[in-house]
Amino acid sequence: MRELYQVVEVGPAWYQENIPCQEACPVKTNCRGYLNLAAAGEFEKGWELALDPNPMASICGSVCAAPCETACRRKEVDKPLSIRYVKKFLSDWTHQNVTVDGRAYTQPPAPVFGPPRGKVAIVGAGCAGLSAASDLSKLGFGVTVYDALDQAGGTTLAGVPPFRLPREVIDRDIAGIVNENVDLRLSTFVGRDISLRELHDQNDAVLVAAGCFEPNYIGIPGEESDGVMAGIVFLERAYRGRPVEVGKRVIVLGSGYTAMDCSSTSWRLGAEHMYVIVRRSREEMVVDEEELTETEREGIEFVYLASPVEVLADPNGHVRGVVFIRNKLGDPDEKGRRSPVAIPGTEFEIPCDTVLLALGQAPETSWLAKDFPEFRVKRWRDIKVDPETYQTVVPKIFIGGDYRTAPTTIIEAVADGRSAAQQIARFLDENAVSVNVPEYHEVVTLRRSRSKASSRVSTTTCPLTTTASRARRCRSSASRTGEGCSSRSTRATPRPRRSPNRTGASSATSTSRSSASSASSAAAASTCARWTLSTWSI
Ligand SMILES: Cc1cc2nc3c(=O)[nH]c(=O)nc-3n(C[C@H](O)[C@H](O)[C@H](O)COP(=O)(O)OP(=O)(O)OC[C@H]3O[C@@H](n4cnc5c(N)ncnc54)[C@H](O)[C@@H]3O)c2cc1C
Ligand code: SF4
Repeated sequence: MRELYQVVEVGPAWYQENIPCQEACPVKTNCRGYLNLAAAGEFEKGWELALDPNPMASICGSVCAAPCETACRRKEVDKPLSIRYVKKFLSDWTHQNVTVDGRAYTQPPAPVFGPPRGKVAIVGAGCAGLSAASDLSKLGFGVTVYDALDQAGGTTLAGVPPFRLPREVIDRDIAGIVNENVDLRLSTFVGRDISLRELHDQNDAVLVAAGCFEPNYIGIPGEESDGVMAGIVFLERAYRGRPVEVGKRVIVLGSGYTAMDCSSTSWRLGAEHMYVIVRRSREEMVVDEEELTETEREGIEFVYLASPVEVLADPNGHVRGVVFIRNKLGDPDEKGRRSPVAIPGTEFEIPCDTVLLALGQAPETSWLAKDFPEFRVKRWRDIKVDPETYQTVVPKIFIGGDYRTAPTTIIEAVADGRSAAQQIARFLDENAVSVNVPEYHEVVTLRRSRSKASSRVSTTTCPLTTTASRARRCRSSASRTGEGCSSRSTRATPRPRRSPNRTGASSATSTSRSSASSASSAAAASTCARWTLSTWSI
C-alpha cells in the first residue's frame, strides 16, 4: 500500500527541540541515523553516514568530546547512548572488513572535476586544516597543506596520547583526505622554510589553521627552574619518541585535557606520586565527569581550590617543590564560572621533582607579522578576523580552527575548518555550493515514514549499549596498553599501581626510566619554560 506523508520545512528551532544530539554536534552528524543503521547490522552504511559531515570521524570515534552524548535524551531514562563509541565501532569494523580494489577501506574519494578551479594554501595539517582541505578539494579547488611536523594530524598526533588515540586511527582519516587535489607538504615551517608572502602570491587564497602551541605561563617566582615544563611540550616529546623523563613526584597545574593527559602519561613514564592542582572546585572543571573519574581511578591525586604561589628550586636550580595558597570561590566570571579567591595565611608546600604546566595554549603569531605588518599585534586576539567570512585584513588570508577561536575540541576545529573552507570557496567563486549541508526536510520525512512503534526506538527499546554498560564491557576486555579500547572513557582497565611494566604508551613512549640516559634527562629537564613550535620536531 502506498503511504503519503506531508514534508514540512523546519528550521533550527525544530531541530533543537527534536534532535538534540544532532544539533549538539558541531558538524550536525546524523547520530540517530547511524545508530539505527548499526542496530540493523548495516555497519558500512552507518559508517558512511557518520563520515558524511566529518572527515575526522575515525579520530572522533576515539576521542571526541561528544557533546551529542551530553544532549542525548536517553539520559532522561537512564544514561546517554554511546554515540561516540558506536562511531568507533563502525570505523573499526569497516576498516577491518571492507576492502576497495584489494586495499583497506578509505573514505570515498572526492570527485575530480577536471583542472582545479583555483589554488588554496593551508597552513596546518590538524583537524581544522585537513577538514578544510577535504571540502575545498570536493568543491574542485587544488589544495596544498603545509605543516611544520613530519606527520599530519596536528594536536591529535602531538598532544593526544596514543593510548587514547592509536596513530593508525589518525592515518585512516588522513588517507581519506589526501588525494590528487590535496598535496601534503610536511616538515615545512611557514615563516621559515617558506614565507607567508610566497603562499599569498602563489595562491588564490591562504587559510591559516595553525592551532595553539604557545603555552601559557603563570608568572610566579621560580617558574624558570629546571624540571618545570610546558605540558604540551612534555606530551609531544613523550609521544614522538623524544627523550623525556619525569621524577618520582610530579605536579600538574591545570584542569583540562592537557592536565589529564600529562598526569596519565607521567604515571606511564614511572612517576609514583602525581598531583593535579586545580584552582577551582571539582564542579567547575572543564573535562567531563567520565574523564575525571578515570583519571582518579589511576591513583592521581586531585587538590582542589589551590593556586601556585612560588616554585622552589634546589641549589642546582632544579625544582624541589611548589608553594600553594588555598582558595575559596568568588563571584562568577563572564563565562559563569566562579572565580577562585585566595585565602590569606593558608599557604602550604608540596615537594616534587617535576612540574608540568597545563594552563592552556595560545596561537603563535610572530611569523604572520614577518611578511605582513598588518598582523603586528600585542596579543593574538588583536588580529582582526571577520566572524562571518573568516577573512583577515589581508583579503586573501583567512584564519580558522583553534588558531581563530583559542583552544577548543577536535569536532569544533573540524566544524570551524569546514566553515572557513565554505567562506574561501565563496570568496573564490560566488556560485560555489556548499558540501554536506544537513537536509532538514529529509530528516523530517524519514522520521514520519517510520512506523509508530519503531519511531520510539530512542527511549525504551534501543538495542545499543548505554555509556555505563559500554564502560563495564571495556573494563573487562581492554588490554592494559589501552590500545584495544582507546576512548577516554574506556582506557580504564584498572592498572595496577606501581607495576614495574607500564606499557600504556606506544613504542615511541616506552622510554623507560632505566634506559633514559642522564644526558637525555638533563636535556628534557632543561627544556622548559620558554618554548615555541619552532623548537619541536623540525
Ligand atoms: C593534550 C591535548 C589533549 C586533547 N585532547 C582532546 C580530546 O580528547 N578531545 C577533543 O575533542 N579535543 C582534545 N584536545 C583539543 C584538540 O586536540 C584541538 O582543539 C584540535 O586538535 C585543534 O585542531 P586545529 O586543526 O585547530 O589545530 P592543531 O591540531 O593544533 O593543528 C595545527 C597544525 O599547524 C601546524 N603549524 C603551526 N604553525 C605552523 C607554521 N608556522 N608552519 C607550518 N605548520 C604550522 C602545527 O604543526 C599543527 O600540526 C586536546 C588538546 C591537547 C593539547
Ligand atoms: S562527531 Fe562527536 S559530537 Fe558529533 S556525533 Fe560524533 S561523537 Fe557526537
